[in-house]
Amino acid sequence: MKNFKKIAAILLVVLMTVALVACGGKTEKTEDATDAPAADGQKYVIASDNAFAPFEYLDTETNEYVGIDMDILAAIAEDQKFEYEIQNVGFDAALNQVQSSQADAVIAGMTITEERKLTFDFSDGYFDAGQILVVPADSEIQSLEDLRGTTVAAKISTQGAEYAQSVAEEYGFEVTTYEDSPTMYQAVIQGTNAACFEDDPVARYSIQSQGLELKVVGDVINAKPYGFAVKLGENAELIEMFNTGLANIKANGVYDEILAKYGY
Ligand code: GLN
Repeated sequence: MKNFKKIAAILLVVLMTVALVACGGKTEKTEDATDAPAADGQKYVIASDNAFAPFEYLDTETNEYVGIDMDILAAIAEDQKFEYEIQNVGFDAALNQVQSSQADAVIAGMTITEERKLTFDFSDGYFDAGQILVVPADSEIQSLEDLRGTTVAAKISTQGAEYAQSVAEEYGFEVTTYEDSPTMYQAVIQGTNAACFEDDPVARYSIQSQGLELKVVGDVINAKPYGFAVKLGENAELIEMFNTGLANIKANGVYDEILAKYGY
């Protein structure tokens, strides 16, 4: 009987220790998960595109993401003294991460639209851009009218895709969506698609800097400002800091220096 009590007591201690360790582990995990988001005011997680030059793209020499968005964000964070971690996950993934609260904000050459305002809060605009039709360098396509009977490429979740879909029926073409801009360009270069819609500055920059056998045709469509965005109703202080920081870097010349670095 005595032994039984002793064993029971030991078992109880062991069980309590296991429970404590498990609890401890759990607490730590919860802290980790909320570590990055704004809640404890430490480090914001900011999602971005991964191949959208000159706004964000991998510098293969340094293996770091560079570009106008990356530089503007860094300058604003320095000005407003907030810490962040950038995750270059791709455009569609970046939007999803913010909506599912895995990221606090997105900066990805993201056009401010009325439709997106239903699910995102935007900063002030920091760059104006619209979309443009991109075709193979030797293509005879000059306008939407020439797209009849073809299949046109667009990048998923973008304004380019939205525009393509909105006029597809009228101009008699089909739309294929791709995950990222480089894959979309290749589809046009290789002839899988007759054309694609891309943001005008990105198309021009990519064609020039990578020597892509593509050209832009026609006029810029739906020129609108790009904005930094958070999930609707969340991280309001981040939007405020972005706006104040943006005004400051515009006033002190840093904004102009950044644009000049990328040819603007
Ligand atoms: N500006 C476009 C949009 O907001 C494309 C953005 C992107 O591809 N990163 O839809």
